[in-house]
Amino acid sequence: PYNFSPGPATLPESVLQQAAAEMLDWHGSGMSVMEMSHRGSDYGLIIEQCEADLRELLAIPPHYRVLFLQGGAQAQNAVLPLNLAALQPQRQMDYVVTGSWSQKSAEEALKYGDAQVVASAASPNHPVVGGHSGYTHIPNPATWRLRPQASYVHLCSNETVHGVEFHQLPDLRALGSGAPLAIDFSSHVLSRPLDWSRVALAYGGAQKNIGPAGLTLVVLREDLLGHALPICPSVFDYRLQANNQSMLNTPPTYAIYIAGLTLQWIKAQREGDLTGLAAVEARNIAKARLLYDCIDGSQLYENRVDPACRSRMNVPFFLRDESRNAAFLAGAAERGLLQLKGHKMVGGMRASLYNAMPLAGVQALVEWLREFERQS
Ligand code: PLP
Repeated sequence: PYNFSPGPATLPESVLQQAAAEMLDWHGSGMSVMEMSHRGSDYGLIIEQCEADLRELLAIPPHYRVLFLQGGAQAQNAVLPLNLAALQPQRQMDYVVTGSWSQKSAEEALKYGDAQVVASAASPNHPVVGGHSGYTHIPNPATWRLRPQASYVHLCSNETVHGVEFHQLPDLRALGSGAPLAIDFSSHVLSRPLDWSRVALAYGGAQKNIGPAGLTLVVLREDLLGHALPICPSVFDYRLQANNQSMLNTPPTYAIYIAGLTLQWIKAQREGDLTGLAAVEARNIAKARLLYDCIDGSQLYENRVDPACRSRMNVPFFLRDESRNAAFLAGAAERGLLQLKGHKMVGGMRASLYNAMPLAGVQALVEWLREFERQS
């Protein structure tokens, strides 16, 4: 079967096989990774290798720190303002809203200061699908109402529910803002390289492209440490966690271990002359193109997102005849094409094509799309 879940999501089979083989006895230690002290030397090797591989794959500059935290990406909706709101005395926080996840982030930040939506793709007049008015584009950055004194600017670089992805991150300096850019990269981290010259902080839950739920990654520039509000919980204070190698409290040890195996899998990928993340990105481009071409070329299916910002990872689509939804999903499940039902907020279907989804999975989906259209 092929699992198109938006997350927790499919992981490379070889990663799961290795984890299973090492489950009871990690490298002759006589212990499962689950049973190890996070402060022991065995676990030290695991977390250090994980960070080194992450730095290598994403080309994280030396003056950025990597934190392995808990709480999920939604905790970061609060943790981020708790740490960065006070970067400027006015505590202004600028939010760009391109889908439900960035909307949620903006709402949470309101509790901690002057959070404002400075650009929004919400379009109340969009045709209503399943009761929801859709997000289908990214407002032109030249129209964002960025505030000169903002502590930071936040956006979600891939909207998992609405399938809207920034293929290029904005250059805030060119837009007249000196504020650091913070991004939620939960659902496309490690699917493509990241331009750190434009990003001061990136965070994400691991449960899509990296590993199981429970691990939250935060990668941030060193100068952003040390500004937490006094009410910030210690375990969520970026500086305290950075000073303690993410071990102020017990980190999600097993999730970090699986993440490490996934990073090694990415490093080993080959696609023609390409290796590692470049190979994975090339495959992701090919998978997304195959599916979008099929949808655009059909009379039955439809994707409403502006082609300039369609997500490579999450592809929402609709049947023009919605009464056929249940039959579509039942036939898909019979063919081992799993978890294609769209988010309840949007309706229709959604196929998530994370790194571990092979091209063969997308080919099987496209075959079913064509066959079902012929039957209709
Ligand atoms: N942000 C994005 C882009 C997501 O896709 C998700 C989860 O699906 C979240 C935030 C929330 O993550 P968590 O459930 O880890 O809090």
